[in-house]
Formats: sequence, C-alpha cells, structure tokens
Amino acid sequence: MKKITTEHEPQVVRQLSVADFDRMFPDEAACKDYLVHQRWPNGVRCPRCENEKVYEAGGKHPWHWACHKCGKPAYRFSLYVGTIFENTNYPLRTWFKVLHLMLVSKKGISAMQIHRMIDSGSYKTAFYICHRLRAGLADPEFRKFMGIMEVDETYMGGKDKNRHADKRDRIRGTGDKTPVIGAISRKGNVVCKMIENADMPTLHRFVHEVVDKEKVSLVATDEHSGYQYLERWQGLPHQTVGHKRGEYVRGLVHTNNMESFWSLLKRGVIGTYHNVSKKYLPPYLNEFQFRFNNRKEKDIFGKAIAGC
Ligand SMILES: [Zn+2]
Repeated sequence: MKKITTEHEPQVVRQLSVADFDRMFPDEAACKDYLVHQRWPNGVRCPRCENEKVYEAGGKHPWHWACHKCGKPAYRFSLYVGTIFENTNYPLRTWFKVLHLMLVSKKGISAMQIHRMIDSGSYKTAFYICHRLRAGLADPEFRKFMGIMEVDETYMGGKDKNRHADKRDRIRGTGDKTPVIGAISRKGNVVCKMIENADMPTLHRFVHEVVDKEKVSLVATDEHSGYQYLERWQGLPHQTVGHKRGEYVRGLVHTNNMESFWSLLKRGVIGTYHNVSKKYLPPYLNEFQFRFNNRKEKDIFGKAIAGC
C-alpha cells in the first residue's frame, strides 16, 4: 500500500444550506443580478472592445446593453454573452443550483443525483448542465510552479478487473486505462492533465510547461524512467524516491501530496461517477482541480461563477 499523507487533505468548502441558497437566489432576477456583478464587478463593459461606456437597452430587454464604439448599428449584448450559459433555455437558477451542489460535494455529484434533486426534466438535461459547468471550471489563471513541487502520473478508468493493476505497465498504461499527469506545490495547488501515454517526451513536456525554472527549488518524482534527465536536459533540481524499493520519503523528497490528490480523484470518479470514459475525463479533471485548489476559498461559488 502507498503511504498517503493527510497533511493537505482538502477541507470541506463552506456550504450554503438550502435555505441560504433560496434566500440568496429567490428567483431568476436575483441570479441574473448576481451573474452581472460577478462578471463585471466594476461595472458592465463591452465584451468585444472592453468599452466601459455601454448603455442599458432598457424597455423589454433588461440585462441587455449596447456598445456604440465597436458597432454600427450599436453592438448589443446580454449578460450571457461569452459565458457557458449562452444559448441555453434552462433557467439560470437551475445552473446555480447544480454548480452549488457540485462545489460542496467533495467527491463530486453524479448527473443522476442532480437529476433527482433539481427536477431537471430529463437525465440528459442534468448531464448536459453538469458537463458544461465542468468546462466552465477550467483554470484560466494558471501560474507556474515555484519552490518545492511534486510531479506524478496515474492511470484512470479501465475495467474493474484491471483497476488495481496501477502502474503495472508504466509506459503505455494498462490496456484500457488512461494516463493522467499532475503537479502539485507544497502549498497545495494542483494542475493535472490527461495524456496519451506516459513516455519521456510527454512527461518532460508537461514538466517544462508547469515549472518556473528560475524559481523552482525541488522537483520530486518517483523513479519512473520518463522523468530521467530532468536535471541534465532541463536544468531542474530533480530528486527521486524509489517506490519500488519501498522508499516513500527522503527528507523533503516525496510525492505524497500528489498521491493524496490522486486518491481523492479516484474515489470521486469511481465512487461517484462509476468510472468515466476517456472522452469525458478532461472536464472531470477540471472539476476536481478547481474544487481542490479552492478548498480554502471562502467564496468558491462566486469565484466559479466569475469564471463561467
Ligand atoms: Zn464594444
């Protein structure tokens, strides 16, 4: 068994009770006002040209504005333009409810559960809403890693009988399993990504993308051959622990934080979603990454809406 640290076990995010949610979002108008405020905290701007002098369309079109700077006739836009809520017929309050449930469930919440809870009409609707929300949770403001960091890869999915064969074949994955690579700083922010295979060029490329070369002080990995030469080729302060030899921690060198994120992800994906196909894995990774990285954020809901 792998040693799992509890040092960075995510805290439960602050949960709005159903009553709090209803008080905050009693109707569509309240949801729309909230979205406008989160999108444009300093006042509405034109999404095309960033112009601050926009005019309310008024009349029959509340939550619509016109920009005279970038269009003739004026460019008209609604609060939804450029968000994941654009071109859908579902009430914003339904979206909010689903997002709220998603963010407060540490291991995620299945579309079937959502369907039962929100009266979404059909399971397909619930699935669609969940899926789009996950896309909205992609982290746009990724900052490169500094200080001490860990990099590790794992394998997701596959048939039940293969599920415990983790890392049996470390290069190609085990049959129908999908490799995922991740990096985490000791402060606890994580970035993870689905990859085609865990060969050396892929692992090196990932590390190159996520590391701030000037400011990183240690890249800790296990002894997977794909991480070889990180020091020689990329000039990184790379050290390994020998999991195969039963070595998990050597001073500051370990991948325990990455391992605990993997275990949270797997418990969620297998326990809640009963496995996820390759096609849908990246949005689930967004979801788990967002929840994990914002586990101490007081207003996780507001932050999520602002990015949608
Ligand atoms: Zn404009």
